[in-house]
Amino acid sequence: MHKLYEQGDIVVFWNSEKCRHAKRCVHGSPQTFDPNRRPWIDLTKAPTPEVWQAVSACPTGALSCVYSHEITVSFDEEQNRSIAFYKDVQIGECDFRITLEGWEIYHTEVLPDYGNKGIAKRLVYRILETAEKKCINVIPICSYAVSLFSE
Ligand code: SF4
Repeated sequence: MHKLYEQGDIVVFWNSEKCRHAKRCVHGSPQTFDPNRRPWIDLTKAPTPEVWQAVSACPTGALSCVYSHEITVSFDEEQNRSIAFYKDVQIGECDFRITLEGWEIYHTEVLPDYGNKGIAKRLVYRILETAEKKCINVIPICSYAVSLFSE
């Protein structure tokens, strides 16, 4: 399971397949990470530095985070894609096609000026999260998605 949590200036990624339940995140920010709550991550409960430190303590890479840089990422169901915006200007996009095997991610692109901000990862995670909710398989085809899946 892949989840994307966004609040204010921080974006947190969680990949349950890598989670070994070491609970370092829980010890680092118990208000944010509560295994008995649904959703178990709530970024409104603690300041960003505390969350950032707790995420950094994750020993398996199940958790990771980036700053949002005021960039929003949304899922566009009509056009089979996720899109990233900065101040109403589209700066990135991740596209998939629907096949019998599932959703094939064939293109991920972020404008060069906005590189190294974790936007491509946010775009792919937005699709993964949506597909998983619908119990749809996701197949990475583009090189970025392939590399993310093999992390
Ligand atoms: S620290 Fe990482 S591996 Fe441990 S419970 Fe939290 S997310 Fe899972």
